[in-house]
Amino acid sequence: MEEKTVYNMPGYSWNINEKKYQDFYRQSIKDSDLFWETQAKQLVQWKKSWTKVQNWDFYTGTIRWYEEATLNVSENCLDRHLQKRADKIAIIWEPDNPDEPTRIIRYAELHRQVCKCASVLSDLGVRKGDRVCIYLPMIPEAAVCMLACARIGAIHSVVFGGFSPESLAGRINDSKSKILITADQGLRGGRYIPLKANADKACHQTPSIEKVLVVQRGKQDINWVAGRDVWYHEQMEKASDMYDAVEMDAEDPLFILYTSGSTGKPKGIVHSSGGYLVYTACTFKYVFDYREDDVYWCTADVGWITGHSYIVYGPLSTGATVLMFEGVPTYPDASRFWHVVDKHRVSVFYTAPTAIRALIARGNEFVTCTDRSSLRVLGTVGEPINPEAWEWYYRIVGKQRCPVIDTWWQTETGGIMITSLPGAMNMKPGSASLPFFGNVPAIVDDKGNVLQGEANGNLVLTRSWPGQMRSIYGDHERYVKMYFSTYPGNYFTGDGARRDKDGFYWITGRVDDVINVSGHRIGTAEVESALVLHESVAEAAVVGCPHEIKGQGIYAYVTLCDGYEPSDELQQTLRGVVRKEIGGLAVPDVIQWANALPKTRSGKIMRRILRKIAANEVESLGDISTLADSTVVEKLIIQKKQQK
Ligand code: ATP
Ligand code: MG
Repeated sequence: MEEKTVYNMPGYSWNINEKKYQDFYRQSIKDSDLFWETQAKQLVQWKKSWTKVQNWDFYTGTIRWYEEATLNVSENCLDRHLQKRADKIAIIWEPDNPDEPTRIIRYAELHRQVCKCASVLSDLGVRKGDRVCIYLPMIPEAAVCMLACARIGAIHSVVFGGFSPESLAGRINDSKSKILITADQGLRGGRYIPLKANADKACHQTPSIEKVLVVQRGKQDINWVAGRDVWYHEQMEKASDMYDAVEMDAEDPLFILYTSGSTGKPKGIVHSSGGYLVYTACTFKYVFDYREDDVYWCTADVGWITGHSYIVYGPLSTGATVLMFEGVPTYPDASRFWHVVDKHRVSVFYTAPTAIRALIARGNEFVTCTDRSSLRVLGTVGEPINPEAWEWYYRIVGKQRCPVIDTWWQTETGGIMITSLPGAMNMKPGSASLPFFGNVPAIVDDKGNVLQGEANGNLVLTRSWPGQMRSIYGDHERYVKMYFSTYPGNYFTGDGARRDKDGFYWITGRVDDVINVSGHRIGTAEVESALVLHESVAEAAVVGCPHEIKGQGIYAYVTLCDGYEPSDELQQTLRGVVRKEIGGLAVPDVIQWANALPKTRSGKIMRRILRKIAANEVESLGDISTLADSTVVEKLIIQKKQQK
């Protein structure tokens, strides 16, 4: 496909320019200890300093940063801002219903609430090292509870509020959480989510849970288990607003978080306190070109790593003003994001390709009827962004004034790993660009040989970074096997990537999803992006299917934009687009129309399920508990039969 370059934006004084990026990157590689020591001193307040900056071994999967140093993460996010930023807004909360009032929480108030919440949890018996499961909607109390755990030294495990009782129970049991924090209900897109009822069902199967702390979000009647259930607001009222932050080792776990489950059963990823905080603060500052007066909005849910790192820990440790949104992009209508941007004068906006594609399908008018002049930087994360969607984000949303920052990273990496930096490099739509400071990615072939220059293969990371995960909870062996045994001496990402002549990285999709047509490797992302180029296509997902001659054929699922109808003619047109953009080899053998695609609850396409449908193996779909909407699968199976 033809590659475009959008030149970086001079005429604005970005924090990092091209020369600074190169110098800084070089230094960060040449003397990594010095680089990460300087960052740690600048960005984090420590109680005790380290004896060694980094100590790790990718052969055994042992990762340690800032050895013997101590700190408290909540103190870093709150107490240390009180001198200069007590009255600065920490959280702007925008409710699902635009007619409900916005909540504004300043740093002093957030500090007070977190101390009270820590007192409440402590009174309920939570101690350092205990696990606390948080199953809340997108309300400020989610951040308060996370920070309260951090203050005590308890390990939080946040479970996205959209998960079912079974999924919640599975995560509680895996982490053996002692306390469950939930709400009476959640509210998304005008619909109530019965969180407490779900929690009650889950707790039938969770022997470790001693108390359930319930935040009041709505007015629904709920079931109440005497002796176990406790109202949050009642406890908060009488709790002390003093709670001394517990001194934690840099390597003490801060939280457990389960991955999205795109490729299988979710893994309980364990993150550290010290290194994680340094890494999220550092990436937040540089990737979003942070300024003190920014209003920063990340649309992810706190139940995902993006919410942990870039709603809570990165921004709050930096003293930023964060917008937290309870709702969805299309409620009350597809203008909602941009109305919120205008209402709060949002300057930095971070979202996912799935949201962008959904909004494109609704038409430009929903965007162009708003102002958006406050926007300065646009970011994306979660999946490869199709160049077509990138262009729309850049031109329609950002009016060609704002750089679009494509950030590649994983739950496992804790923070952004490969990304463009605003103003510091040219942008290529669809490319995650260049490594962040301190990171050395490499591309290896299937035998593990490191490929030089322009290359296409498996993406690995050759050295550690402070935000790297430390283990899979309760299964360190699986951790070592999964990430460090495939290409010994390297961390294996599970993703495929291509590096172009300028050293830019292009994520081609999951390695497991790579399609092998007559011996040629074809990445899913490239074919999907070609299909999305056509104006009729809102979204496409491509998988391999058994093919007698070619070994594997290409099976494409296509969702059309509003106002387009499926037809044989359109199929031919789409095949033509792929032929022209990539070549005959990549032309789909089958195009199936799809009303919707199966996605994880964080909005990622689950290709492993699509692969099963394509191969008619619908009896063995595997773990589907992380699907956002399981009826999508049934509809696809029916549609497949009808289309034949
Ligand atoms: P599981 O590991 O359970 O299958 P998951 O990989 O979807 O789930 P996450 O950690 O949320 O869980 O997602 C990380 C993955 O998302 C990356 O490995 C990559 O495949 C994809 N990804 C994230 N950001 C980008 C991006 N900017 N460009 C391309 N791919 C991305
Ligand atoms: Mg993954």
